[in-house]
Amino acid sequence: MAGFENSKKSDSDSKKIECLSDAVINLDQGDPTVFQEYWMKMKDTCTVVIQGWELMSYFSDTTNVCWFLEPELAKAIKALHNAIGNAATEERYIVVGTGSSQLCQAALFALSSLSEVKPVSVVAAAPYYSTYVEEASYVQSKLYKWEGDARTFDKNGPYIEMVTSPNNPDGTIREPVVNGSEGGKVIHDFAYYWPHYTPITRCQDQDLMLFTFSKITGHAGSRIGWALVKDIEVAKKMVQYLTINSIGVSKESQTRATTILNEITKTCRTKSESFFEYGSEKMKLRWERLREVVESGDIFTLPNYPQAFCNFFGKTISPSPGFAWLGCKEERDLGCFLKEKKVLTRGGDRCGSDKKHVRVSMLGRDDDFDVFLHRLATIEDLKCIDP
Ligand code: PMP
Repeated sequence: MAGFENSKKSDSDSKKIECLSDAVINLDQGDPTVFQEYWMKMKDTCTVVIQGWELMSYFSDTTNVCWFLEPELAKAIKALHNAIGNAATEERYIVVGTGSSQLCQAALFALSSLSEVKPVSVVAAAPYYSTYVEEASYVQSKLYKWEGDARTFDKNGPYIEMVTSPNNPDGTIREPVVNGSEGGKVIHDFAYYWPHYTPITRCQDQDLMLFTFSKITGHAGSRIGWALVKDIEVAKKMVQYLTINSIGVSKESQTRATTILNEITKTCRTKSESFFEYGSEKMKLRWERLREVVESGDIFTLPNYPQAFCNFFGKTISPSPGFAWLGCKEERDLGCFLKEKKVLTRGGDRCGSDKKHVRVSMLGRDDDFDVFLHRLATIEDLKCIDP
């Protein structure tokens, strides 16, 4: 696409790699700086100017359940989901949050406080997004309790299952796994259900769905997320949580998110400018390069993902998850080994899995990704660490 070529790294880049060869590369966090180049090339397109007298009130629309949601942001969210076809927005309440992290906690509060029996068990199938553990345990709430892996959960009584699809950390497509017991609720985290990460195979219509601006366009610093909620009582409780927690969500951030979301919706069908075309090429190329390195040796493993028809792109595509679930063939502490190589990753044990797997962010800067591949390619064995 014009001006946005995602090219393979040439030998001339090896100089840069040399310079960075001693640096610590942090691929533990999923800071989505990968798309910054696109936004730099968009120059002033999404510049937002806010006058000193604007956006001063706590309130946005007092007739809305979510009274701090800017109406223009609500319109932009609906238009984007309609254009991409990844989620139903009709007959749903939109609750905006300071990132979907805040909304996840608001949802735990809402679902558990509406439950008759407490504490409500909170589970997720391993490997899971490790932050759920902290979100469900940190305040030691009497309303809910983290109970670990959903696959081995067999308690009676109400529970909340976190379902992340595509999954962070391993990129798999997920459905709820706990079956049976009454009073089960599901929070569907669709942070990565966008066409640059995965084929859009259906329009999701679950009761409680979370989305984040951070992982769509890379604007994690704006801290904007939203929930699409069917049940008004759940939406009201979430709004109550957000009111007590932060009296709403920054209007500046909502305004910026509105501009950027409108822009990616407007251009989503224009091949030369579409953010999703760019993002999907970028992620595809990173995955091809990583697979090439992994397959050239006999030390590491990566999951294989089935191709599927993407309703948005109108063709069959391969998934390119935001994280690589890197494993090693021998029984080793891979996170510890990579740390010795000055590559920080998230150990699989933190995600309810084992130490021979790590979660590697695929969303960082080009330079860091190049150095990571370079270091991975030069590893000949895992001998220098204890099992
Ligand atoms: N859910 C998942 C699965 C994530 O990976 C992340 C970000 N790492 C979040 C939620 C939170 O995103 P944010 O708070 O930036 O909206």
